[in-house]
Amino acid sequence: MRDVVLLLGMQGAGKGTVGRWLASRDASVTHLSAGALLRQHVREGGPNSAEIVAQIDRGDPVPSAISYGFLAERVQAIDKSHSLVLDGYPRDRSQLDLLVAALGTDPALIIHLLIPRPIAIERLRNRDTCEDCDATFGREIPPRSTGECDHCGGVLSRRKDDTEATIGRRLDGWAHHGPRLLASLDAIAPRVEVDATRDIETVVSEVAAARSERPN
Ligand SMILES: [Zn+2]
Repeated sequence: MRDVVLLLGMQGAGKGTVGRWLASRDASVTHLSAGALLRQHVREGGPNSAEIVAQIDRGDPVPSAISYGFLAERVQAIDKSHSLVLDGYPRDRSQLDLLVAALGTDPALIIHLLIPRPIAIERLRNRDTCEDCDATFGREIPPRSTGECDHCGGVLSRRKDDTEATIGRRLDGWAHHGPRLLASLDAIAPRVEVDATRDIETVVSEVAAARSERPN
């Protein structure tokens, strides 16, 4: 059975960055980000790209049929021995069944990255995203060279949904759906709460420890 870890938490908690670091530290881990998969599809000019771009730019959720279709497709192509670390899935309780169907298994561990809303807002206001590989940079993790991605050399820019108008709406979405989603997941897998206000290396080490310390 495939080992699946879900990274959950408010936007700005660092889900994508933590997932990326976990995968970079362990070659048997594949990180899949809902937002990154959608943006990659758009960059490659896939079907319905214009519609998807409009929804992302407005800060609206992309229809589940599209996002879980991408996920199922990607999961099929990944070596079965790889552990998966997912961020951005599921968005709410209604997507749980879609997630399990796309993965072909239940998630084995839930990592909840906790940050207060004011810190999330501050991070989202100041973050830039690589246009090629979707890595994010900000005050806490500045790029080595201004405007250029450390990982692939791509151009860094402000995402259109990281604006004042949409940040509040996206955070409200998590505040509304998050608690019920976590409660539903508690029936499926153990959950570890991680203080995500600390530096990225500390957070990643704690998440990695939670993964390896699970009882089999
Ligand atoms: Zn990049």
